[in-house]
Amino acid sequence: MNVDVFVVGAGPSGLAAGIASARNRRGTVCVLERNTESGCKFLLSGSGQCNVTHSGQIADFLNHYGNTKKARFVKPALLSFDNIALTHFFEQRGVPFLKREDGKIFPKSLKSKDLLNILVAELKEQGGILQTETVVKNVAKINTGFLLTTNRGEFCAEKLILATGGQSYPSTGSQGDGFRFAKQLGHQLVEPKPALTPVIVRNYPFADLSGISFWSAKIEIHRNRKRLKVGQGDVLLTHRGLSGPAILNLSRDMKPNDKILVALIEPEKWVSEIFTGKRTLKNALQQFGIAERFLVRILELFDIVPDQPVAETNRETRKRLELVLTGYPFIIESLGGWNEAMVTSGGVVLEEVNRQTMESRIVSGLYFCGELLDIDGNTGGYNIQFAISSGFTAGNSVHY
Ligand SMILES: Cc1cc2nc3c(=O)[nH]c(=O)nc-3n(C[C@H](O)[C@H](O)[C@H](O)COP(=O)(O)OP(=O)(O)OC[C@H]3O[C@@H](n4cnc5c(N)ncnc54)[C@H](O)[C@@H]3O)c2cc1C
Repeated sequence: MNVDVFVVGAGPSGLAAGIASARNRRGTVCVLERNTESGCKFLLSGSGQCNVTHSGQIADFLNHYGNTKKARFVKPALLSFDNIALTHFFEQRGVPFLKREDGKIFPKSLKSKDLLNILVAELKEQGGILQTETVVKNVAKINTGFLLTTNRGEFCAEKLILATGGQSYPSTGSQGDGFRFAKQLGHQLVEPKPALTPVIVRNYPFADLSGISFWSAKIEIHRNRKRLKVGQGDVLLTHRGLSGPAILNLSRDMKPNDKILVALIEPEKWVSEIFTGKRTLKNALQQFGIAERFLVRILELFDIVPDQPVAETNRETRKRLELVLTGYPFIIESLGGWNEAMVTSGGVVLEEVNRQTMESRIVSGLYFCGELLDIDGNTGGYNIQFAISSGFTAGNSVHY
C-alpha cells in the first residue's frame, strides 16, 4: 500500500493527527493500529469515564507537565487546540460534557467510548483510512519518504507521523515500539520510565487501612536529607503504600529510598491549646479531621494511649506527636511498574522536535505526537488534552 501520510497508532493523538491531515484533502492518509480496535488505552482512561481535559485557562495547564522546559514545549500545541476547542469539537458532534468540582472534565455519559466513536467517525468522514490489526515492525527512511515493515507487508509513505504512545499498560498495545522507531531514525530518548504511579512503602504498617484518604495534604519528597519537591493534594492509603493525585503527580520525581513526608496536620494548624481541657488525646486530635482508625493506629505505633487525658500528656509525647502528624515519614521501597503506571515519563528528546509543527528536526517529513514525546502531564485530563492538541498540530503541519 502506498499512501501520502501514514500515522502509526490509533490512540487519541494518532486519531487527531489523522483527522487533521485528512482534512487537507490533498492525498491519502492512513492510520495504522496493531489492535482490532483503536484507542484501547483511551477507553480505560478515567476508569472508563475519560477525564478528557481540565477547566480553566489554558495558560494554567502549562504548570502541569513537570518543569518549565516542558511547559515551553507544550504551549503552542495547547494554544492552537485548547480545552475550549476540544470540548467544542465533541459537543458539535453530539457529546455534552460535565465539569466536576475539582475542575476535571468528562463526557456527560461518563463513557470514553462516546468520545472515541467520534474521533473514529470523524477520521472516516474526512476521508482518512483506519487500518487495524496492522503491527508496524520497523521504520526506515528512504529517498521517497518512509518504508514501513508490517505484519501485512511493506508500505511506503511520503510523510510519517509516529503516535505510538508510551510504554505503560502494555496490554493496550502501547509497548514502546515508537521509542525504538525514533532511535532507528536517529533520535535520542530520555530514558522512558513509569509515571503517575502509586508508591510501595517499606515496612508499611497501614495495609489493613487501605482506602483511607487525606484530603489536600501537603507532601514533601526528601533525598539524601535534602528537600527535593513539594506538592499538595489528596493522598490515598493502599494495601502496599500510597496513591492519590498528590502522590501520582510527584511520582515522576521519586526514586526508591526517597522519604515522603505527608502532613496529616499542617504545621501552622498544630496548636498547643489542643492539650488543654478534659478531653482524651484521641478526641483532641480528631478535630483535625483525621480518620479515627488511622489516628488510633498512629498512637498505637508510637506507644501512646489514645484515651489518656490530654492534660496528662507529657512534653516529649507532645513533641513526638507534632513531628509525626505534621510530616509522617514513608520510605519508598519501589514505584509501581509498567502495569500500574498511567503514563510514561521520558521519550523523544524535545530539543529534536519543532514544537510549532511537531516535525522532527533530524528527519524531514517525520512527525511525533502524544505520549511518545518526553511529555507527561499530571492527573486531571492533561495527558489526553496534550495527546489531542499535539496530534492536531502534527496533522495540520504535514504538507504533501
Ligand atoms: C488506566 C489509565 C487511565 C488514564 N486516565 C487518564 C485520564 O483520565 N485523563 C488523561 O488525560 N489521561 C489518562 N491516561 C493517560 C492517557 O490515556 C494517555 O496519555 C493517552 O492515551 C496517550 O495518547 P497517545 O495517543 O499518545 O497514545 P496511546 O493512547 O497509548 O495510543 C497509542 C496507540 O498506538 C498503537 N501502537 C503502538 N505501537 C504500534 C505499532 N508498532 N504498530 C501499530 N500500532 C501501534 C497502540 O496499540 C495504541 O493504540 C490514563 C492512562 C491509563 C493507563
